[in-house]
Order: sequence, then C-alpha cells, then structure tokens
Amino acid sequence: MSMWSKNASWAADGELFIAGISATTLASEFGTPLFVLDEDDFRSNARRFIDAFEEAFGAGKVSVYYAGKAFLSASVIKWLEEDGLNLDVCTGGELAVAKLAKFPPSRIEFHGNNKSVAEIEEALDYGVEYIAIDSFVEISRVEKAAATRGMIQKVIIRTTPGIEAHTHEFIATAHEDVKFGFSIASGAALEAARQVRGSTHLDLQGLHAHIGSQIFDTDGYELAAKRIIELLATIRDESNLELPLLDLGGGFGIAYLAGESALDPATVAKKMCAVISSACEAHGLKVPHISIEPGRAIVGPSMATLYEVGTTKSVTLENGGSRAYIAVDGGMSDNIRPAIYDAEYTVVLANRRSTAALQPSRVVGKHCESGDIIIKNVDLPSDIAPGDLLATPVTGAYGRSMASNYNHISRPPVVAVSDGKARIIVRRETHEDLLRLENMEG
Ligand SMILES: *Cc1c(COP(=O)(O)O)cnc(C)c1O
Repeated sequence: MSMWSKNASWAADGELFIAGISATTLASEFGTPLFVLDEDDFRSNARRFIDAFEEAFGAGKVSVYYAGKAFLSASVIKWLEEDGLNLDVCTGGELAVAKLAKFPPSRIEFHGNNKSVAEIEEALDYGVEYIAIDSFVEISRVEKAAATRGMIQKVIIRTTPGIEAHTHEFIATAHEDVKFGFSIASGAALEAARQVRGSTHLDLQGLHAHIGSQIFDTDGYELAAKRIIELLATIRDESNLELPLLDLGGGFGIAYLAGESALDPATVAKKMCAVISSACEAHGLKVPHISIEPGRAIVGPSMATLYEVGTTKSVTLENGGSRAYIAVDGGMSDNIRPAIYDAEYTVVLANRRSTAALQPSRVVGKHCESGDIIIKNVDLPSDIAPGDLLATPVTGAYGRSMASNYNHISRPPVVAVSDGKARIIVRRETHEDLLRLENMEG
C-alpha cells in the first residue's frame, strides 16, 4: 500500500512490522499512542528531493530546505545535516532545537510573518544564513538588529504571487488576501525590494514564494516561478542587480488514502526547470540558485501512529444501519488535522489479522469533545476489541508538531526505527512535565 513507509510489512498472521519490529513489541516497549518514524524512509524521501532537483538543475545549483514545522527533533536535524539538507525554521523555538543539535547556521533559513525582535536577534546571533522578510515592519526590525551587531544580514523577500493552488482552502497561503508576504500584483513586493536594497545592513539575495500545501498540480509552481522571475527582471531593470536566489517553497502533495498518489519530485523538478529556464532566458536573466522547502513530503509518509483500542460501542443510525465507535487512547491531541482541515486518514488493525465481517466504523479519541474524530468513516472488522492495536499511516507531518496537551494529556513519544532497532527520539511527556508549569505559590 502506497501510503505506508518503505519498511512497513505484514507478517503471515497479519501483524504490522515497521523496519522489522512488530506493532505489539513497539506498543509494549514504548506504550501507546506512539509515533513510529521509519528513519530510512525519512532519509530516502529527503534524498529523493535533492537527487531530483540536482538532476534537473545541476549539482550545486539547488538547496533543499526541510520545513522543520512539519516535525522537528534534534535527531532528525542530525540526519538532515549528514544527508546534505538545509533547514527552514519559523520560530525561536524551532531555532532552539536547531541550536541544540548544533545544526550549521549557514544552512538555516528563518521564516515567519511575525518574528519578534528577540527571535530576529537570536537568529542573527546564531548566524542564520537567510531571513525571509515577510512585512515592511520587519525590514526595519532586521535592519536595526543587523546594524546594532555591525553586520550585513542576507535576506530574501517572501512574495505572494497571487496563485490559488488547488488545495484545501484553509491550507492555501498565497492568495493576495493572506497574512503572509508581499503581494507582487500590488507592487508591494517591488517596494519591499527597494527598501531592502536601500539598507546598508541588509543584503537582498532573492525572492521566495510558498503557494500552499498538498499541491498535486505543478501548474501552480510554474505560474509562481514565472511571476517571480518577472519581478526579478523588474528589479534588475531598476537597479542592475540580478538576484542570485529563487525559493519556491514547499507544499508537495502526498497520498493519505489508498488510491491517491504523491506528487513525484522528479516530475516537478523537470517541469520547474523547463519553465524557469525559458522564463529566465526570455528576460535575459541567468537561472538563479533554486531552493525548495518540502516538509510534509519528507516526513509525512515516514511515520505511523499506533493506538490501543480502549472502548467500543455500536450505535443505530437514522437509516437503520449501525456504526461502531472505536475509541483509542489518543485523538485530536496527536492528530488535529481531521478536526481543522477535514483531513482524511486510514487505519488498520495492526496486531493481528481478522476474518470477521467489516462494519462501518468511526475511530475516535479520548478527549471530551464530540469532534474528537480521527477517522470519520472506515470499514473495520467487527471483532475489534479493547486491547487491539490500530495503526494510522502518514501521520509524520503536522501530527506530533501540532500535538497539544488538551485535557492535560501527555503528548506521545516519537520512536525512530531502523534495521530492527527502535530508539526514542522524543520521549513521552509525563504528568511531572505538565505539572512543572504550575506555580504553587501563585
Ligand atoms: C509550511 C511551509 C513549508 C512546508 O510545507 P509542506 O506542505 O509541509 O511541504 C515550506 N515553506 C514555508 C514557508 C511554509 O510555510
């Protein structure tokens, strides 16, 4: 099945194994809910982007920035470093993890539409290579921080090229009417470029756009690239300055359900390269260095969540049919995407094979909220009972990273598996962790 990580397999008795370790072993050793990260899958997804874009644009002409917000931990950052990736962070907290892992600052880009002065200062002090400027307010903030330090900071400008990527409304980010960046159409992006060029402490290196998430149609990237290249030409005409960098963001779509297919990095890379080359040629520009920022497409498919079934019940529906409610020991605190984006996932019985008839089922969590639904409609064996294990694939992106402590639940650990070995890379939160925030003198 396409949505499982590459080292997922099923034993003859129906049990799920990931990188050679059974679901039962993982659950008994580390508890549930549990994020299981297939290290080899993560690393090969990352390499696929490097290989595909280097193949299209040439070695040394592309940088792949892993979008840390999808899932970040010090261990993952070590893999990125070893495998030749760069890192995109968008808060001081994400930067703190990068610092903990001693990730080279020369390979970090800092995003965000409302970076605080403190965050900007931390980024500059660490030596972050690029700050992605997102607003006029920020131009003066970054300039001031750089001036105080007597340095020149490299920056790129986040533009909104006015493209409605064909994706879920809530996760599209490049309409004009969005909080991110400077619109190209209104002239704001050009004005931002002028202001940045006017600063002695800022060094304008390039333009950026991130047109959305879960994109399956390469036309969006191609149109964005064309519009940005027009702006590069306008900037060159005005100032004789050819910016060396073009960053096309992330958003590469992946499969969550059987029958869906992911956007192939090699296909996008080839198409982008053709469009960029011809647009640059038309404007008499050299093809700039290309950056991309995949998050979901690298980590999404590499993780699955293991849950233990706690309670089950059956309800009679208005149409006379019935539905099983299968409650697991996690829920919206470890997977908020169904609640906020109507995102769909699938699930399998992970500890055994069942020959029982399938029945319409709903997998729900343990939170005090009717909307705490992980999978709204799925057919599952009618003999699923307390103690069974369920596994949801493709939870790597925005699962653990958007996890919450709602209902004072402890956020699940992440266990990396590789060659039959499992190790905790982010441990389970404990009640002590939660209670540490209490001020008993308050
Ligand atoms: C969210 C984001 C990404 C990553 O998006 P994915 O859909 O996870 O690939 C990349 N760049 C920026 C600026 C983002 O905001």
